Amino acid sequence: MIRTHEAGTLRAPHAGQQVVLAGWVARRRDHGGVVFIDLRDASGVVQVVWRGEEAVGHELRAEFCVRVTGTVRARPPGNENPDLPTGAVEVVADEVEVLSEAEPLPFPVEGAAEVSEDVRLKYRYLDIRRSQTARALRIRSQAAYLLNDVMREHGFVNVETPYLTRSTPEGARDFLVPVRLRPGTWYALPQSPQLFKQLLMVGGLERYYQLARCFRDEDFRKDRQPEFTQIDIEMSFVTRQDVIEVAEDIVARLWSELAGYRIPRPLPRMTYAEAVARYGSDKPDLRFGCELTDLTGYFAGTQFRVFQAPYVGAVVMPGGAAQTRRELDGWQEWARSRGARGLAYALVGPSGEITGGSIGKNLSDAERSGLAAATGAAPGDCIFFAAGAAAAARELLGAARLEIADRCGLIDEQAWSFLWVVDAPMFEEDGAGGWTSVHHPFTAPLPEWADKFPAEPGGALADAYDIVCNGTEIGGGSIRIHRPDMQRAVFDVIGLSEAEARSQFGFLLDAFRYGPPPHGGIAFGWDRVCMLLAGAATIRDVIAFPKAASGLDPLTGAPTPITPAQRREAGIDAAPGAAQRREAGIDAAPGAAQPPG
Ligand code: ASP
Repeated sequence: MIRTHEAGTLRAPHAGQQVVLAGWVARRRDHGGVVFIDLRDASGVVQVVWRGEEAVGHELRAEFCVRVTGTVRARPPGNENPDLPTGAVEVVADEVEVLSEAEPLPFPVEGAAEVSEDVRLKYRYLDIRRSQTARALRIRSQAAYLLNDVMREHGFVNVETPYLTRSTPEGARDFLVPVRLRPGTWYALPQSPQLFKQLLMVGGLERYYQLARCFRDEDFRKDRQPEFTQIDIEMSFVTRQDVIEVAEDIVARLWSELAGYRIPRPLPRMTYAEAVARYGSDKPDLRFGCELTDLTGYFAGTQFRVFQAPYVGAVVMPGGAAQTRRELDGWQEWARSRGARGLAYALVGPSGEITGGSIGKNLSDAERSGLAAATGAAPGDCIFFAAGAAAAARELLGAARLEIADRCGLIDEQAWSFLWVVDAPMFEEDGAGGWTSVHHPFTAPLPEWADKFPAEPGGALADAYDIVCNGTEIGGGSIRIHRPDMQRAVFDVIGLSEAEARSQFGFLLDAFRYGPPPHGGIAFGWDRVCMLLAGAATIRDVIAFPKAASGLDPLTGAPTPITPAQRREAGIDAAPGAAQRREAGIDAAPGAAQPPG
């Protein structure tokens, strides 16, 4: 080792010891003949005192990498720094050796300077020197240790599944990889290890887990990454309850060790139908109330045309009657930006009467007088309405509920709310008159739907479960189909012919001919879990080298065009697979897809 001690570990009892330290110059201050250096390494910071001509003349700048030989001593009384773990001591340097110099920095490593994310990501290695970024990565690492402990205690087998494989049916686009030795053929990067984990169950491993990297070529959204990590789990001979218990063990361990929070066990459960009806969301944030009210019955005989709809609902904004005209107009803008026509509202006066709002005059006296009671609104509140198809209206009210919480400061940021949302629909309409799987096509129906789902796909419920934390889905899974006849029936519902099914996952169907066990599993979004544990604002903060929000990597410049030679060698232009090529945009001219600027 080129040092004897780590800077952040020095304490009062070290006084008098000769030490050799190595690290970076976090700060340097000149005080007439004495130079103070805050020396930082991975363990923390210690103050170094360097005297003499060499010290004063030396051009030692921030982030130089140095080695310091010196003696630890107690700081002079009154000079201790209680904010620093090493604040009782300092190191009096005999020698400071520069191991490497640093050029002027693109942004200060120390201090809380606001730096744009693109710049932070371009110089991610400097960003990682900053304490908050390093802390987030350490929390992620600790979380992985804890996860591995829990899985080992439960007898799970850690298996690595392939990255170079073929399409997995998670419903997104695949990233494709050309294969030089078989020109015109392509691997797909896995969207999840779903098929492999099911094969491992056929293989008799019974309990599998993996921290698995997944790749989905989706449109870039604020907090999405084209590659992300999942805790992927699969178990044989289990019911939903068994999977949920293992999942709760993981969450309990992570949150108690890393967030100091004991989750209530068992975690509350809610059906999908209830979550959507009460909160307008399949991932409700339960840290605050403001539940939706269903007013469809209340307005059953209304003369008001807009409310003569399959569903009428409302959500109440506490104190919302005090909003200015501009704020109320702002809500209309907000609703339109979400694709709605507007957001009808009524204001509640001091004795519970409707005093105004966009719809007050359209309602009958009886409708007006009972409205506050029907919605639970108090004097001074504002009632927002949505009417139309139930799903869309509830979604709008659910979004309004979150917006209300935000504007009224209703969320206790220190609180945790976990719940399971169970029994989601198996299928949803695909917009072209057919059906598609809500989860993936290997999800089993609830037992009571096992025989009737083919006849009634719209009502069929899946034996599926999603775990939600503070209004974000952090994991989801299901009991799987293991009977070929039932699998065939699901493919029929989603319009997948025998030949298509065989060509996409014939290998799984083949495996299911050899005694597949009943099985089920779950996957957690590991980046999101770590983000919550680290108290980070985005998943990018807990990924060492994330893509920027645009999907580009400011550090390496990826993705980049390839050379004509690479292109030839990879066999990209060989004939088979022309359709997938077009989808993936492979024949676009280099640079064509790069966003302006
Ligand atoms: N494969 C699913 C996913 O990635 C999770 C699961 O069903 O276990 O979302």
